[in-house]
Amino acid sequence: MKNGVVIVGAGHAGVQAAASLREEGYDGPVILLGDEKELPYHKPPLSKTFIKDPAAQPQPLRGEVFYTGHTIDFRPGTLVERIDAGANSLALAGGESLDYDHLILATGSRPRILPLPGADLAGVLSLRSVADARLIRDHSAACEDVVVIGGGFIGLEIAATLAAGGRRVTVVEALDRLLGRAVAPLIAEHVRKRLEATGVRILLKTTIERIEGEGGHAAGALTSAGERLPAKMVIIGIGVVPNVELAETAGLAIANGIRVDQAMRSSVANILAVGDNASYRHWQTGSDVRLESVQNATDQSKLAARTIVGHGGDYSAVPWFWSDIGDMKLQMVGLTSGSDRQILSGDTAENRFSVYHFIGERLVAIESVNRPADHMLGRKMLGLGFSPKAEQVAGGAEALKAALAAQPPG
Ligand code: FAD
Repeated sequence: MKNGVVIVGAGHAGVQAAASLREEGYDGPVILLGDEKELPYHKPPLSKTFIKDPAAQPQPLRGEVFYTGHTIDFRPGTLVERIDAGANSLALAGGESLDYDHLILATGSRPRILPLPGADLAGVLSLRSVADARLIRDHSAACEDVVVIGGGFIGLEIAATLAAGGRRVTVVEALDRLLGRAVAPLIAEHVRKRLEATGVRILLKTTIERIEGEGGHAAGALTSAGERLPAKMVIIGIGVVPNVELAETAGLAIANGIRVDQAMRSSVANILAVGDNASYRHWQTGSDVRLESVQNATDQSKLAARTIVGHGGDYSAVPWFWSDIGDMKLQMVGLTSGSDRQILSGDTAENRFSVYHFIGERLVAIESVNRPADHMLGRKMLGLGFSPKAEQVAGGAEALKAALAAQPPG
């Protein structure tokens, strides 16, 4: 145990893994390597508030004293270039090498690139890091018109935030609905109408053919329908790809992310992977998934720490996610895949409702808009494997609470 645990990537997953190792009583060296220069910070506020507030600062995941107080050797600005799995050793940019007993890969993901003519112009941006968010904020100060390519969560959050900050925003989405297959069509449609009511223009079934520039800077975007949209800033938000290149240098099994077992171990037993970069067989659906959420990063990292100290356990967390799009707090719990029956509870006109998803009689997911109580109950119900009846769903949170309370213990 002389070399301890080295964690690569100091985002949500990496920082949680370091914290959990100490919580689980691990007393060997813990070294946390991150290529960003910042103290590790929360990513969700970047698209929701940071980009419209000139005074906003990144919100640290943990204060500086946390790292020193828990003897976590945090090294910012440290890029890891290669893994020699046979020698249990890492090569850092700059030539240094570092040995480990266990390695945790928490390298996250990065925005998917859209190979468009004009994509290299100044003002064509995407959002992952606080450095990206600062660029978006700086550019938006000098532009009135923005085009957002991609109607997923991040694209819509950015669109709503910039529109609230006074920009004219057009969202261009290739599919015939927003939010891909991530939410029920009813919710996607609700989000579309609500965003349009705030002035965001949404073009469905439309793509961008090229970005046009003036003097090396974006000036507009040409749609597949032949319309030229003025835009000094074009934001590309078409999803992310997992950062697996480092894992490839170690010869780890990769399939839409680093393959891990139920204990977060990769195909090499003393190398674990957690967070956005890890793909695993989901206990509920039996299919391979790679989830991109704070919950997943946090829970997988807690489990990875348990695996290393020998406390064991299988990954069986109920997945949940949230997104703030304008005046809509969307909260999702469970997985909707295979859902064959949906029950609506609440009123879309009031902008407060939930969609309960079932497979047969079994509750598999709940998607809520401005109904946090439904979401919290959903987490409980799915955690307990409890499926409410239609009349209990219709009765709202009170009826569901009563139904849960009436469950026999255990
Ligand atoms: P990251 O947080 O991306 O951390 C990975 C870190 O590893 C990065 O700092 C990266 O630079 C570093 N790294 C990569 N390779 C190397 C290397 N070779 N050497 C050293 N360091 C390396 N999720 C939600 O649940 N709700 C939300 O509302 C929400 N909003 C979001 C808004 C934005 C703008 C973004 C970008 C994400 C949002 N997410 C949200 C997703 C959530 O932030 C991610 O799922 C989470 O950050 C994943 O954590 P991670 O540690 O796996 O990856």
